[in-house]
Amino acid sequence: MSDLIRKSVQAMQGYVPGEQPKGADVVKLNTNENPYLPSADVQDILSMIDIAELSRYPDPVCIELRKVIAELHGCEVDNIFVGNGSDEVLALCIRAFVERDGSVGYFDPSYSLYPILADIEDVEKRPVALDAGFGWQIPSDYTASLFFLTHPNAPTSLIYDKENVEPFVKGFDGVVLIDEAYADFSSQNCMDLALSQNNVIVARTLSKSYSLAGIRLGYCVGNSELIGAMYKIKDSYNVNYLTQEVARVAILDQDTMRANVQAILETRKLVAEKLSELGFEVYDSQANFLWVKPLGLKAKELFDKLRKKDIIVRYFGSDERTKGYLRITIGTAPEMFKFLDTLETIVNGSD
Ligand SMILES: *Cc1c(COP(=O)(O)O)cnc(C)c1O
Repeated sequence: MSDLIRKSVQAMQGYVPGEQPKGADVVKLNTNENPYLPSADVQDILSMIDIAELSRYPDPVCIELRKVIAELHGCEVDNIFVGNGSDEVLALCIRAFVERDGSVGYFDPSYSLYPILADIEDVEKRPVALDAGFGWQIPSDYTASLFFLTHPNAPTSLIYDKENVEPFVKGFDGVVLIDEAYADFSSQNCMDLALSQNNVIVARTLSKSYSLAGIRLGYCVGNSELIGAMYKIKDSYNVNYLTQEVARVAILDQDTMRANVQAILETRKLVAEKLSELGFEVYDSQANFLWVKPLGLKAKELFDKLRKKDIIVRYFGSDERTKGYLRITIGTAPEMFKFLDTLETIVNGSD
């Protein structure tokens, strides 16, 4: 049986997404989704959609949606690629920019999908370890065909100093994909580098700040030659009609996205302060989640105790670098109060 399957596929591990538990009482703080509703225009467009449209193939190159995105970032339609979630954008970058004997770089720890995407294409992985405080550190003789730079980083929630990022991308021989899934929650982003440097692509997603993880829409911005290469190799109809329509109206309604982000930032500040008071080491988050280290209590133990109380956070226990930490998505204020109350009873040992 197994000789029917490529050896590299037999050898690799598949990606394990965060669990999606069902149940009204579960406080789900494990996959960095947005707890607020997307734009009301999404509801309107869905009720206006003519089902006759669904019998036709969608626009293969998503022109109307790309116009809206190009307008948002002050660039041309040729600078925009849209995909079935930014996960598809990342996968296509490896297929478009990495030769069979090439390599894929990324920081460790960062988004755990990157090594799996490299394994799928059977290309070499060149992870670069972050330092003890999860800061930037790249050897001077380092090379790779494609580097995934997560900014803000996940799961650490930190941004990197732009004064370091800019010379790095300028001196880098390969393509740098700056994965900005959390940029709307951050005080800094690198979009200007995508529009000024020939080897830089910035990827964004509607899954987090726009509350639309369910429609699967990600996009990237970069020079038209790189974007053109991605269009050559994508699936013919990679973004379905409903998603194109929903994404278009959601992006046009920046006010709703901004208001939801603002609410999350306020809650994030409050929760970070409270966790510090409770004796946690809390990193300076620039995303919609907190990266924390419990002191005096093991991360795994806390994770299990929270879980018993129907509060699900994310624990990355299989890696030495991350097993002392928890990643906590910022939910609604009531959800976070429930989380903090439960946490307090656990920390105080009354549970
Ligand atoms: C959530 C996330 C993605 C995936 O986004 P989708 O558009 O939902 O595929 C990509 N990169 C990072 C760092 C993420 O956290």
